[in-house]
Amino acid sequence: MTVGVLALQGDFREHVAVLRHMGVSPIEVRLPQHLAQVERLIIPGGESTTIGRLLVRYHLLDPIRTRAGKDLAVWGTCAGAILIAREVLDQKVGGQPLIGVMDMQVRRNAFGSQLDSFETELAMSIVGETPLPGVFIRAPQIVALGSGATALSRLPNGGIVAAQQGRLLATTFHPELTGDDRVHRLFMEL
Ligand code: GLN
Repeated sequence: MTVGVLALQGDFREHVAVLRHMGVSPIEVRLPQHLAQVERLIIPGGESTTIGRLLVRYHLLDPIRTRAGKDLAVWGTCAGAILIAREVLDQKVGGQPLIGVMDMQVRRNAFGSQLDSFETELAMSIVGETPLPGVFIRAPQIVALGSGATALSRLPNGGIVAAQQGRLLATTFHPELTGDDRVHRLFMEL
């Protein structure tokens, strides 16, 4: 079961480190021939506009879009969640390239400047009853889900921070920065 981590920009090294610690050997995906080898793909946090531009330049956008949710399980963290959403509010002026496969509406930089970054404990019962550490860095928020998608975790104010649609997973926070690998384990089972 080969897992890839999109390694164009952002904190892909942290995802690779978590997977290695779990005893999994991920492939760093930079080119279509790397993508062809994987059945799961993590899209890391970073800057969604930059990652989107690089996906176009390296001819990865269309093959990911075609396979996502079918023979390719995809997990987007933070910027990655923006990239897989079908609808993105507050996009970069002029628009930005998106994979656009998951039935959800996401707002970029939803927490404003004062709360740009924060940490909180999250309830996410699908990975167990112990609260999950949630690290949010200029995070987006999932503002609406289509009928095929389910919320997996919410902030106390109801804001959705994790969602799943079949073999697509989105988290607006960064499990790769916490030392808690339960979301990585969940993804490896999708
Ligand atoms: N604000 C970033 C964006 O719009 C996402 C931040 C992150 O991935 N930590 O792409």
